[in-house]
Order: sequence, then C-alpha cells, then structure tokens
Amino acid sequence: MKVQILSFLILISFNLKAQINFDKYFIDKSMRFDYNIGGNKNETKVFYNKIKEEPFWGGSTKNLIDTFNFGDFRIQVFDKKSNKLIYSRGYSNLYYEWIDTEEAKQTSRSFYESVTFPFPKNTILLKIEMRNKNLVFKTLFEKEINPNSISIIKDKQIKYKTQKLHYSEEHHKKLDIVIIPDGYTKEELNKFHKDSKRFIKYFFEVEPFKSNKDKVNFWAVDAFSEESGTDIPGDTIWKNTVINTHFYTFGWERYLTTQDIEELRNIAAYVPYDQIYILVNTAKYGGGGIYNYYNLCSADHKQSGRVFTHEFGHAFAALGDEYDYGYNKAEDIYNMNVELWQANITNLVDFDSKWKDLIKKDTPIPTPDSLIYKNKVGVFEGAGYVKKKIYRPAYDCKMRSNNTDNFCPVCYRTVFKMLMFYSE
Ligand SMILES: [Zn+2]
Repeated sequence: MKVQILSFLILISFNLKAQINFDKYFIDKSMRFDYNIGGNKNETKVFYNKIKEEPFWGGSTKNLIDTFNFGDFRIQVFDKKSNKLIYSRGYSNLYYEWIDTEEAKQTSRSFYESVTFPFPKNTILLKIEMRNKNLVFKTLFEKEINPNSISIIKDKQIKYKTQKLHYSEEHHKKLDIVIIPDGYTKEELNKFHKDSKRFIKYFFEVEPFKSNKDKVNFWAVDAFSEESGTDIPGDTIWKNTVINTHFYTFGWERYLTTQDIEELRNIAAYVPYDQIYILVNTAKYGGGGIYNYYNLCSADHKQSGRVFTHEFGHAFAALGDEYDYGYNKAEDIYNMNVELWQANITNLVDFDSKWKDLIKKDTPIPTPDSLIYKNKVGVFEGAGYVKKKIYRPAYDCKMRSNNTDNFCPVCYRTVFKMLMFYSE
C-alpha cells in the first residue's frame, strides 16, 4: 500500500514538472507552420513554405507536452533562450503511407503539410522529427522562428459562416472537433448541417464519448463547393470541390483523402480545433483517418456511422487497423526487432509495454481465434494488415470490422486517456 501511495505521489509531481506554464511562453492563438515534405523510399526532406498566425488555440493550455509517443512524426518546440521544450506533438501523414507504395521506389514526390502550436511569446526553435527504421525519432528539419517577424502572415478568414453543433463551452478544456464539408454546394448547406448532426448522434452512441458528452465540442464551417459530390477517378468522375477530396488514393478505391492541406487548414482556422473531420457528400463507401492529420468519411453510405468512429480511432488515438488482408510476411511491413508504437497492435517484442495488464491468467497467449474468447482480452493473431506474427487484443473491435459499435478494451483505454488529455 505504501509503495502504491508513493508511486502515486511521484506520478503527480512528475506530471506537474513535465507540463508547461502556458502564459509564460504562449499567447492564446495559434502559429501554423506550412512546409513541403518530400522524398522517396530512401530519403525524406522538409522544405519550409510559410508561417501564419491564426486566431484560436483549440488545444489544452495544461497538457502541452505529448505524453503518448505515438505517430511516425513529431514536432518539438523549444524556447530559444532557455532551450526548454515547451510544446510537442506526434502525428502521421499521407507522405509516410506513400513511401510504402511501388511509386516511391521509382520516383520522388512531395506533399504539402502543416503543423500548429500555440503562438509563442519569444523566439523558438521548431524541430520536425521522423522515426527511423528502429522507430527512434530523428530530426529532419529545424528552424528558429521569431514571433515578431513581419514575414508571419496575418490574413483573416472571412468568407464562411461557422456553427456550434454541440457545445460544452471553454474550448481549451474540451476536445474540439471541426466538421468541414466537401462536395456540398451552397444550396446543400442545410443537408450538411443535418448530416453533421446525424454523425454527432452516431459519435455519442460509442463509448467513451457516450459518457463524456460534456468534454467535447463539435464545430462546423459552412465552406461550400462549386459542385456536388467528390472525385471518383476510377469512374472518371471529377468534381470541383472546396477541399478537393478523392477516392482511389494510391489506387485503393475506398481510400478517401485530400492533398489540399493548405485550403483545409485555412478553413479549419475559423474555429478552435483539435481534430479535423471532413464530411464528403457522397453515398460511395469509404473514408480515411491519419493521426493528428485529418479524418474523412462519406456522408450517405449505410455503414458510414460506424466508419466515422473507426477513422476517428486512427486520427485521434493513433490506433492501428486490427484487420488483415491475408498477407503473411510481417517482415515486409514491420521491423520485427522493435515493438510497434500503436497501442492496439503488437509483434510481442515488448508486450509488457502493451496490454499484458488487461489479460486474465487463464487466457492463453496467443489466443485462439474462437468465439469462446469473444469477450476476453487476449492476443489474437492477424492485425495491422498481416495474417501472421502481428497480434490484436480482441476477437472483434471497431478497429477490425464494421460488425461492432464498440472499441475493444485496449482501444477504449487509449481513446479515453487521449480524451482526458485534451479535456483538462
Ligand atoms: Zn481494438
């Protein structure tokens, strides 16, 4: 008991020490750093594009340092004078997915990208880091930024109206999700509002959101498109839409994404936000979610309610997919000598750091893929796109299939911790 109390006290003092006094280092608005990330299978480079001042900081003013260690990339912001780390955040991106494609073996390509952090009072050093093959973060790029520089763009966004669709007040202490429409014309904005409310209803049917409605704000920006729908390149359908979303990303029919990050971020900046959700006006099945990057979901497919929270699992809590494509060679996708960074998939290299604490003594490891273990936390083989040597925590989960409304206990725990991180 004494040991427990002691470790609890140490944990509290560590947390106090680890986090940063917001008012000492920051002003209550955002700095946005835009860049191009480019390269190929063998090398990656970052090229500075522009810096913008944005009117809101949607994030926590308490939890400024990332305590999760998720994502393929990370930004770190240091106060220049004291060399103190004052902000950090992990994220992933479309570029990192592209470097696993056949195209990345043949050619180099760049993607526009953007990171935001609270607006610093004094000169900072910004570092952008990427994990190496052993999943250790290495610095890709660094730049000193003087917040008083006249080169920082201060344009205000004034074209679109905004809506509070579910409002629990005080955005610093809430998870703020901005819903952005794509492929809704001006005449279809009413449909956008109705669709958004329908998805918010689906969202709050899923735990841990269901029991924590008061920790979430949903915002919308009425950004309308010239044409209705979205691009479906495989059917030679091309639509002029505000965010330029499209199916067939990297050749995958149902993979719905956009590369128009500059316009997306300009629109998101109308409101305070932690997460961007793009609702695409189409009935075609599909979606996408990338950690601290963006979420997308098609509005009118009958499975979209479940897709909506599955994608949010990726973009909000960095959860991995728990399904496989029947592929057998884990070594082709993962370094099998180091543990995976996603909370809900493992190669058993360091399982103690994963969900071992949630497994009952009588549950076999690995756990047979049988209905007997349907409601147990275990170590089920087949996850992260491969059939062998990558394991998941449950027989079924929202991150595995559309057959369930629930996150498995491991995914639930991760989403819950993240929700608390953004709402204090
Ligand atoms: Zn799960």
